[in-house]
Amino acid sequence: MLSFLSRAFRRRLPLALTLCAALALPPVSPAMAQRGISVVRDAEIEALVYDYARPVLEAAGLGRSGIEIVLVNDPSFNAFVAGRRIFINTGALLMAETPNEIIGVLAHEAGHIAGGHQQRLREQLSRAQTMAVIATLLGAGAAAAGAATGTGGLAQGGAGIATSGAEIARRSLMAYQRTEEMTADRSAITYLERTGQSARGMLATFERLGRSMALAGVRVDPYQISHPMPRERIANLETLARASRYFERADPPALQQRHDLMRAKIAAYTQGHAAARRIFGRDQRGAAALYADAIGTMLSGNARSALPKIDALVKAAPQNPYFHEMRGEALIKAGRPAEAAQAFATALRHDPRKSGIIQIGYGQALLATGKPDQVRKAVEALKSGLSRAKDYAAGYRYLAQAYGQLGDVGEAELATAEGHYHSGKIRDARIFAARAQQKLPKGTPSWTRAQDIINARQSGR
Ligand SMILES: [Zn+2]
Repeated sequence: MLSFLSRAFRRRLPLALTLCAALALPPVSPAMAQRGISVVRDAEIEALVYDYARPVLEAAGLGRSGIEIVLVNDPSFNAFVAGRRIFINTGALLMAETPNEIIGVLAHEAGHIAGGHQQRLREQLSRAQTMAVIATLLGAGAAAAGAATGTGGLAQGGAGIATSGAEIARRSLMAYQRTEEMTADRSAITYLERTGQSARGMLATFERLGRSMALAGVRVDPYQISHPMPRERIANLETLARASRYFERADPPALQQRHDLMRAKIAAYTQGHAAARRIFGRDQRGAAALYADAIGTMLSGNARSALPKIDALVKAAPQNPYFHEMRGEALIKAGRPAEAAQAFATALRHDPRKSGIIQIGYGQALLATGKPDQVRKAVEALKSGLSRAKDYAAGYRYLAQAYGQLGDVGEAELATAEGHYHSGKIRDARIFAARAQQKLPKGTPSWTRAQDIINARQSGR
């Protein structure tokens, strides 16, 4: 289940958004300007990127638990690590043919962090809200210039642009110094060496980005602007990479398989059925091509036709939690909620990370049965899932429905308030929190939570 979350950041970041759209800097892809920025939540992709990141971050001495993966729905290539959050565009994941390419980029980013590069900006970003970081750095890059000059928090980021102009913004955007790039490359090589991995993917990625930079008329990916890739740097990197005894080492086949499945999923969700099939044109009978086909079929509104395709995937890999999750989603769409709940329960059993997203799917299926005892179980599953995936707006809708079916209007209003709150719609959140308070017993934890939402400032969480 891959979900797109759009937030009402327009209200929170009016300057950044308006100015960037007006300036039309290269980092703002046209698609994003039209659609607005959205975050993607998906248990499978988040788990995979986490598995990519953890060893290199540990090798860099940055291995803290609770790394948060933020997937940005944008077709361009970009990735950034801030504090405990790793931001990465779906476009970067889709472009990378091997896990090693993404692992290499993450190792390079870890090198910037360990080297203390752009420390001040990073500190601001580690405190900032997720959507603010995306709007400034990954989505609407120009706003970062204001933040980088240290004139204040990210909220003032856009204001800096207004006076400094597009060209200055472009030049000062997260721009690492040439020496910093060299240092980060060297550090990345060290981390990859310590983890027994090749630097070939990092080299391939930077070569590709460097080439497209040199071509006139090719859209420039935001990553290239923040990480300049002159020819001498690539040449140095190549020398270092080839010196490693791991240079020829390929990713473990199981990891490559997960990578292919991820690309299949991203392609099916963001580019459609046909595009997803094209990626795996050489191997239409492999699991990734079948996965893309199954998802494409389901998304085209034909859940019943998708089910036998998903069943075949499950049969071939019964331990894969995400095939069961996908089966649950298709079963809900096919109007078979009881079986869907079983599928999600199986997915959870096989998911080592116990993803909140899958728990919410389980709750959604239980709710859809409409049976009071199942709906009560749905409330528990949804609350548990939302505690692990707080920004998953659809989860609050299901929770509100579940409470509504059980006749608990106060809790239903509070769940709606939470949904608005975590979507950044603070004004709506306050309205529903006030309505919840009228129904909830005074002084209870829910009543107190409603009061917190009522007291919330427009800008923050
Ligand atoms: Zn760099």
